[in-house]
Amino acid sequence: MANSCRFCGKDLKLIFVDLGISPLANSYLKADELEVMEPYYPLKVYVCNACYLVQLPVFESPENIFGDYAYFSSFSESWLRHAKAYTELMIERFGLDSNSQIIEIASNDGYLLQYFKKREIPVLGIEPAKNVAKTAQETGIPTLIEFFGTQMARELAAEGKRADLLIGNNVLAHVPGLNDFVEGMKIILKPHGVITMEFPHLMRLMDENQFDTIYHEHFSYFSFIIVEKVFTKHGLAIFDVEELPTHGGSLRIYARHREDGSKPFGERVFELRQREEAAGFTNLEQYLSFGEKVIETKRKILDFLIKAKKEGKSIAGYGAPAKGNTLLNYCGIRTDFIDYTVDRSPHKQGYYLPGTHIPIYHPDKIKETKPDYLFILPWNLKDEIMEQMAHIREWGGQFVVPIPEPRVYS
Ligand SMILES: [Zn+2]
Repeated sequence: MANSCRFCGKDLKLIFVDLGISPLANSYLKADELEVMEPYYPLKVYVCNACYLVQLPVFESPENIFGDYAYFSSFSESWLRHAKAYTELMIERFGLDSNSQIIEIASNDGYLLQYFKKREIPVLGIEPAKNVAKTAQETGIPTLIEFFGTQMARELAAEGKRADLLIGNNVLAHVPGLNDFVEGMKIILKPHGVITMEFPHLMRLMDENQFDTIYHEHFSYFSFIIVEKVFTKHGLAIFDVEELPTHGGSLRIYARHREDGSKPFGERVFELRQREEAAGFTNLEQYLSFGEKVIETKRKILDFLIKAKKEGKSIAGYGAPAKGNTLLNYCGIRTDFIDYTVDRSPHKQGYYLPGTHIPIYHPDKIKETKPDYLFILPWNLKDEIMEQMAHIREWGGQFVVPIPEPRVYS
């Protein structure tokens, strides 16, 4: 079966990295599901040799992947702080008020829109995952439970719903029909409206070896250069860009209609484009060197774990993020190395990690069992976690952060 590039349509032939086969990273299991067959899918990422879009072919329908999503954004404090700061920045920069319309695609449980609502700015969320969307509706955030694309955009535009600020955070990577999605955004953007989107930056993923952020929900991995190509094709211009520390290094792009001359291009756009060119992002060699680096990291992680177990140490995990499931499944780490993991989200406690079947408990479990090592799976939140869990030092516990390569923090 030939796969074709979701942006330019050319056949995909070159492998960026092959992470073997894995279950869907958000398919947490109940106890009675442990004895039944789990679906596994290839986690083989390609790079298009025509446009350089790094991408994972779609192996399962988005309805099955996103229908009942376990990630509730409101359970991460640092993420809430990030959302609130963003809201204030946008209100000030673009002069948003009660006459403006904010639309957010993939609005999750309303964690971000709540801050605009508090400032009495009209909001509309669009979120296909029923369970999180319902939570948003219950807290008074108007939310449409649907997948976004040109069809939905035309319906909204026909009802007169168009955005002064159109937000899409951590959604661009999740979109199988990339062209249809970006075209849809153009349709619901007012003539002088602004789109902002945040997504993990491929340059950081590669520089810092964040291979575990690759999972079936993430179909595309963007450099600034490629995202600019995609927007340009659909008549949108990216006039500013920021580099953020979130999710291990993200970009926040600002886009407008090509013909909207009221917002000139900022210096940061030229600067980042140049930096990516200098780093080799317009050259295939850059992409083809990544796979070997990932294999080497797997060996180092296993090396650390094997040594620790031979010394009789106990290891517990911290967190149950999707990225942890890629890492654990790719490396083959089960309860033979990690006794259990803990997570603050009650939607994950009592469940088991997909594939590896590591049980997930409430963080209090750590105090009961006093592990020698706490293996931090959401490494992007390592500072916050090490602060929260500082008490493990009372019994000589140490933290382990696996990415970019395994490192122990006493
Ligand atoms: Zn392509």
